[in-house]
Amino acid sequence: MSDPVPPRAEVVVDLAAVRHNVRILKDLVSVDGPVQLMAVVKADGYGHGMVEVAAAARDAGADWLGVATIEEALELRAAGDHGPLLCWLSAPGDDFASAVAAGVEVTAYSVAELEEIAAVGPARVQIKVDTGLSRGGAPRTEWEHLFEVASELEQQGRITVTGVWSHFAASDEPAHPANDAQEAAFREALALADKAGLDPDVTHLANSAAALLRPSSHFDLVRCGIATYGLDPAPGTSPRIGLRPAMIVRARLVMSKVVRAGEGVSYGHTWHADEDTTVGVVPAGYGEGVPRAAGNSAHVWVDDSRRPIRGRVCMDQFVVDLHGELPPSGTEVVLFGPGDLGEPTAQDWADAVDTISYEIVTRVGGRLTRRHVDTDAETDDETDDDAASERTPR
Ligand SMILES: *Cc1c(COP(=O)(O)O)cnc(C)c1O
Repeated sequence: MSDPVPPRAEVVVDLAAVRHNVRILKDLVSVDGPVQLMAVVKADGYGHGMVEVAAAARDAGADWLGVATIEEALELRAAGDHGPLLCWLSAPGDDFASAVAAGVEVTAYSVAELEEIAAVGPARVQIKVDTGLSRGGAPRTEWEHLFEVASELEQQGRITVTGVWSHFAASDEPAHPANDAQEAAFREALALADKAGLDPDVTHLANSAAALLRPSSHFDLVRCGIATYGLDPAPGTSPRIGLRPAMIVRARLVMSKVVRAGEGVSYGHTWHADEDTTVGVVPAGYGEGVPRAAGNSAHVWVDDSRRPIRGRVCMDQFVVDLHGELPPSGTEVVLFGPGDLGEPTAQDWADAVDTISYEIVTRVGGRLTRRHVDTDAETDDETDDDAASERTPR
């Protein structure tokens, strides 16, 4: 399948890990009765490949898929997905007609949006209420009016209100007071929707962190993004439930060489060797989504050990300290992976550059090639990949 020479630098996504995570999440939220699982695959599946991840998630029992934009939803339909699918971020003039025609459920934040959707109806619409994130969704002062208008449009047969939902501000901090307040506000919104005569199929509030940490917020459905990809939504807080990171980013060393004590490395010489050492050149940079802030802070995996990045990350490449070793050109460098062999994880990179794992995996791309593998199905049809797979931490 893949060519005999591994690519200069690539992203490898294990769809078996995605399926594993979906099954674990579904089991976890369904212990006290059935709760549906929405796999959130926006932003190209958090950098993992939207279409491939979506198919794997459906295979493993995801009831819903969730995306931000109508364009993303239509791309899933074009790729052959026909299951329940919700999108939630539109601007006036967006192509609601195509979404509705494709059976995509759209989200309304306002009366204006409801009317725009009803004009291309009959449409299946979910209403998003702002319970305290103060981002998208109808503000508290609009709820009653919005629900009344929705109810009228429903009676006219122009829309069906299939859901009422909201989104947490701080579900990764379980003790944050916003969580209780938002959940209480959400229950109030549901009561008002009921009073207006609405009877949605699904009500939902929880993202990954709330799915793991706040069972009271599960309602009919949880929307899991980051956990689907095997990353921890609330590092240091989440229970260990056996999620598997699905993404590996790796490259092949361009060259290795000696650097003498006192010599500076990479642009601006922000690092100087304090003793003689060796360094390697890794062909991926901020053009590939390697954060520039990883200079002098993150580590990569070469020859079975973690090696520090030295000096600035450049557009196309960076330099790693090889501590006296001179591995040959072409030697595998793992930037991050599941961590099973000791290689850094996306969370380690996030910690090193003061961000969240979401941003690390979602921004990876540029000139990297991306390949999907299935470690559950690695038999005869993947023989070409065996050499590569053996070097792949998992
Ligand atoms: C992105 C997103 C999610 C998924 O959040 P995770 O923390 O990745 O689980 C859920 N709901 C909404 C509205 C989102 O925008």
